Amino acid sequence: MALLPILEYPDPRLRIRAEPVTVVDDGIRRLAADMLETMYSAPGIGLAATQVDVHKRLIVLDVSEGRDQPHCLINPEIVAAEGKINSEEGCLSVPGTYDFVDRAKQITVRALDTSGSPIEIQAADLLAVCIQHEMDHLDGKLFVDYLSEMKRQRLRKKALKKARHDGPEKASSPRRHPAPVI
Ligand code: ZN
Repeated sequence: MALLPILEYPDPRLRIRAEPVTVVDDGIRRLAADMLETMYSAPGIGLAATQVDVHKRLIVLDVSEGRDQPHCLINPEIVAAEGKINSEEGCLSVPGTYDFVDRAKQITVRALDTSGSPIEIQAADLLAVCIQHEMDHLDGKLFVDYLSEMKRQRLRKKALKKARHDGPEKASSPRRHPAPVI
């Protein structure tokens, strides 16, 4: 297994729309394992292939307290959505930024698992939020796209300035934030 570099906003590669996975083979299983390792190490509770510059429809997540219930969803599709939840989100590709986003509270998702078999998941609350956030990544969408234009511009300036002056080594403070980093 290997740790994969995570793209950071405003990298234009985060805007690429991912293609469906046509065959679930060893290459896809290796990618899923590497993505899980990268997500746990970051640490985050979800990661989309888009964030590691692989433009295939695959997401991994684990919202459990024990960090021992990994999910891998290939070609995920939301087939039902209900209710509304407004919760604070962070993103491994937008470090240091947290904000409130509206999502469906309960969703039903169809996908393939890592053996290529169809699965259906009923998800609510944090797991539902996490799946919707990751599926947005596959469509080239970031949670900051839901924020006001003013907030987004401020964020973009901050990110560009950081890239120019800091470089990745002097990343922002590792202060813990209560919102989930997805
Ligand atoms: Zn994210």
